[in-house]
Amino acid sequence: MEKRYFESVGRSITLLGFGLMRLPLKSTNAGDIDADAARNMVDMAIEAGVNYFDTAWVYHEGKSESFAGDALSRHKREEYCLATKMPSWLLESEEDVERIFSEQLRKCKVDYFDFYLMHNLCGERYELAEKYRVYEFLRRKKEEGRILRLGFSIHDSAEVLLKVTNAHQWDFAQIQLNYLDWETLDSKTLYETLYTRDIPIIVMEPVRGGALATLSPSAEKILKEADHEASLASWALRYAASLPGVLTVLSGMSDETQLKDNIKTMTDFHILSESERDVLGRAATAYRASGAVPCTSCRYCMDCPSGVDIPRVFAIYNHYRIIAQVSPNIAPIVFDNNYRTLDEGERALNCVSCGQCLEHCPQGINIPGRMHEIAELAAGK
Ligand code: SF4
Ligand code: SF4
Repeated sequence: MEKRYFESVGRSITLLGFGLMRLPLKSTNAGDIDADAARNMVDMAIEAGVNYFDTAWVYHEGKSESFAGDALSRHKREEYCLATKMPSWLLESEEDVERIFSEQLRKCKVDYFDFYLMHNLCGERYELAEKYRVYEFLRRKKEEGRILRLGFSIHDSAEVLLKVTNAHQWDFAQIQLNYLDWETLDSKTLYETLYTRDIPIIVMEPVRGGALATLSPSAEKILKEADHEASLASWALRYAASLPGVLTVLSGMSDETQLKDNIKTMTDFHILSESERDVLGRAATAYRASGAVPCTSCRYCMDCPSGVDIPRVFAIYNHYRIIAQVSPNIAPIVFDNNYRTLDEGERALNCVSCGQCLEHCPQGINIPGRMHEIAELAAGK
């Protein structure tokens, strides 16, 4: 397994990191992790050499950290690095910071975290973290040896990223980076801001919540013509992993097929060539033309007070848009069938445009606007 070493990190980290936020489930409930299947995947990953595991307080409705603790504690502590995160938006006092941190150590069954992040430091959340002196607390934990490396994750503009990087000293940072967002969501500027400051980069959403592993038929055709053997996801992983300054690329894997494919990509790793980058540029243009909603299924927008299952509605809609590119006559039937799998209360029609979800969506999606559009599609207008 390909590894990266940075002086400031002081340990070789595998280029593939296991994101524990899209584990296999036993039902449609995100908290209902299929622990047996997920544990097998963790074992397979460790056997293949993967040594970076990324969880968070909020993943899988709060169950991911306990799962990480159960699955990883069956392995030698030196075989894996564990990363988790402080959810500043849930804090109501300085005491909450200490309470959550202690609980995380307990749930993860560890004495220390190899990597610890302040989770998603976008505008308001950063202010909250400052208010409750989260950084100062975590620095103390680093001095006590409970945290080995301290960083942050962010879904925001380069301006906010700069403010955060200048405010404190960081060992690493985690940003969303993939070939679809490179220009449009300003990933390039975020990446360059960190790279020029020698802050090791952990990449999240390299496959954009799975979207770049399925693509639209026109985009898929471009990639398959360039390399018939390579999976679509392998293109996306290689794009992120080929950039200098990247320490590891996180993939939230949901089954063994994805895991095996990712292991293969990062074991027999080849840096992307210039011509391959051009191929990806063309595929991105073709994919954007499908009109899919850029939702990554992160579920940060949930729960909607009106009951709308926002990520599932978008997943069904995106499937429709992709099918519409090749079979416009069949697409509405497929949409109808899939849409009916949602309970009536979970459908787009229930959106009352309260706007509560907007501030939570790291992708900046106009959720109520898109819900209105999808409700009209469902109504056959
Ligand atoms: S804007 Fe619509 S989808 Fe978003 S939280 Fe409000 S009701 Fe739910
Ligand atoms: S709409 Fe935004 S916040 Fe909600 S799941 Fe999709 S990307 Fe995440």
